[in-house]
Amino acid sequence: MAEDVSLDEFLHDDESAEAPAEDSTGSEPTSDDGTATDRGESDDIEPATTTYAWSGDGAACAACGTVVERRWQQDGSLVCSACKEW
Ligand SMILES: [Zn+2]
Repeated sequence: MAEDVSLDEFLHDDESAEAPAEDSTGSEPTSDDGTATDRGESDDIEPATTTYAWSGDGAACAACGTVVERRWQQDGSLVCSACKEW
């Protein structure tokens, strides 16, 4: 199969290209970047302790789309005061 051959070549190239990079950067995997991106969003919100989020420029309500400065956590989404079930 031609596909098998090209796939094998691709994997082989990838491995040989990765090896020196791992040596120079130590043990910082790509997952570190993903965590940092996630953290950037959740840091402001802190779902466990904070019930609302403040956005100075305004942000869209997850339920109705209205742009508001303050949104409250509800079922894992951020909604405006009108949509929040108190
Ligand atoms: Zn709303």
